[in-house]
Amino acid sequence: MNYDVVIIGGSYAGMSAGMQLARARRSVLVVDAGQRRNRYATASHGFLTRDGSPPDVLAAEGRAQLLAYPTVEWLDAQAQRVEKTEDGFLVSMDGASSVRGQRIILAIGITDHLPDLPGLKERWGRTVFHCPYCHGYELQQGRIGVLASSALSMHHALMLPDWGKTTFFLNGSFAPDSEQQAALQARGVHIEDGPIERLSGEHLDVVMKDGRIIPLDGLFTTTRTTPGSPIAAQLGCEFEEMPMGMQIRTDSTQASSVPGVFACGDAARLAGNVALAVGDGAMAGTAAHRSLMFGL
Ligand code: FAD
Ligand code: MG
Repeated sequence: MNYDVVIIGGSYAGMSAGMQLARARRSVLVVDAGQRRNRYATASHGFLTRDGSPPDVLAAEGRAQLLAYPTVEWLDAQAQRVEKTEDGFLVSMDGASSVRGQRIILAIGITDHLPDLPGLKERWGRTVFHCPYCHGYELQQGRIGVLASSALSMHHALMLPDWGKTTFFLNGSFAPDSEQQAALQARGVHIEDGPIERLSGEHLDVVMKDGRIIPLDGLFTTTRTTPGSPIAAQLGCEFEEMPMGMQIRTDSTQASSVPGVFACGDAARLAGNVALAVGDGAMAGTAAHRSLMFGL
């Protein structure tokens, strides 16, 4: 099959890109492996008109609205390889099938690599988070922890007092200098510098190696991130090194460094969220359309 655009990644960014192309009656295939970044969370916050909706409901409604357009097709699959051909791109899926696209939109998201602390991954998206704007408000100004994972955690620790009484757990991952200690003190942050044994409890208890148990309402930590798929690197897209990890370099129209390839959503921006993914996706969709119309 030959499509105007093959979109790799069918979450918020990819579906939003597809919507613009569908409305221009262009043929679109969305290939999606179903690993949305927020699949661990029960509510998604901060997206205007849908504040607090379950992330899977948002995704399912998006998919239904997109697939109502007759020129859009969907494939639940992992795209394994994209190759440049003379007249476009060849996309190979797991299994034997492959499809052609005149343009490619990469909406592959990112993968979070969590700090290695027993009990943390089971609580990811429920009581352990990375984004205060997404999940801080619901903690009701309660007891908040910041788990240091690198020097970047300093930024987190200075932010969180706006959402509740904050304890900064250094856990051997970061040591603030005297200036940083003064900044933390000015924001009212309490520092715990002992090692943590594990997270436990029905809700969230921090069990310190010295045996103390510190109950919290929520814990924030910074993850290291990698692109959601090796496909962008394999296509030769340029990346930018960002504090949390590598992101696909794009211009203001979401065009990547490879002609005919666009990128949007978390894979191509710093500190993404649903609203920004939808916005970048809309830009990538219209830019891919312009490129088809005018042979750019
Ligand atoms: P994603 O949603 O990550 O989707 C990428 C898609 O691409 C996945 O379906 C994946 O399977 C697919 N894919 C990747 N590679 C391939 C391939 N080779 N072939 C086929 N498919 C592929 N944001 C908010 O605005 N509000 C919140 O409350 C919020 N809460 C969050 C809670 C948690 C725990 C986390 C981790 C994140 C949260 N976010 C929240 C951030 C939000 O999840 C992301 O910003 C958003 O999902 C980015 O959308 P995206 O479309 O760029 O990528
Ligand atoms: Mg960008």
